[in-house]
Amino acid sequence: MLGEEVAAKTSKNIAMRTAMARLPFVKPLETFEFDYQPSIDRKQVQALASCHFIEHGDNVIVLGPPGVGKTHLAVSLGLKAIGNGYRVLFTTAANLIAVLTRAHAEGRLDEKLKVYATPRLLIIDEIGYLPIDRLGANLFFQLISRRYERGPMILTSNQSFCAWGDVFGDRVIATAILDRLLHHAVTLNIRGNSYRLKDKLKAGLIRTHDNEGPQPGGEI
Ligand code: ADP
Ligand code: MG
Repeated sequence: MLGEEVAAKTSKNIAMRTAMARLPFVKPLETFEFDYQPSIDRKQVQALASCHFIEHGDNVIVLGPPGVGKTHLAVSLGLKAIGNGYRVLFTTAANLIAVLTRAHAEGRLDEKLKVYATPRLLIIDEIGYLPIDRLGANLFFQLISRRYERGPMILTSNQSFCAWGDVFGDRVIATAILDRLLHHAVTLNIRGNSYRLKDKLKAGLIRTHDNEGPQPGGEI
């Protein structure tokens, strides 16, 4: 009976922490088809799933073109972290910067920075899809500085690191951000076809990148 009660409590806790993490979807790592994306080192991802990177305070940076599973992997690792008892928070770069910009205008920046600095694991998805203005870049840098060497993060981007100067509209800030992020980090470089186009590719409706020459993001 006691065992059942503890188990229920744990699953209730996990459900609560999953809701608090604000994940865009719930897909465990077991649903990820590694065979479809051979550029991903399955063993490396399985090592990350043990959550040692969280204990070490390491960041995980997932790079690759759209549809290759960056968000899926970030969510799956987030779920592993939740299962291991950590508090996780998911946000997109665009949302994070919008929230921090609003808080800055309302004089509540410190309060909001705390919201993103406190969870043990912060996932920032989709760096690079939308341009970031000077204030946004500055606020993003402040958050990265707060979490530096204390709070591990998972970040995803469709842009190679050398393009982050353009993403943040400022080479100096981008370098300062990357300097902190990469000090303790594992980078997963996904090169492959979009999973979203899997069935179309299979049916031969569109061509794969292989017969198109260099693919977008191939220089990552
Ligand atoms: P990205 O963030 O790189 O643009 P997503 O992670 O959103 O791509 O993946 C797009 C969709 O395809 C999602 O529904 C995701 O679950 C699914 N998906 C992507 N890669 C895989 C994979 N290797 N195995 C299973 N599902 C995948
Ligand atoms: Mg995504």
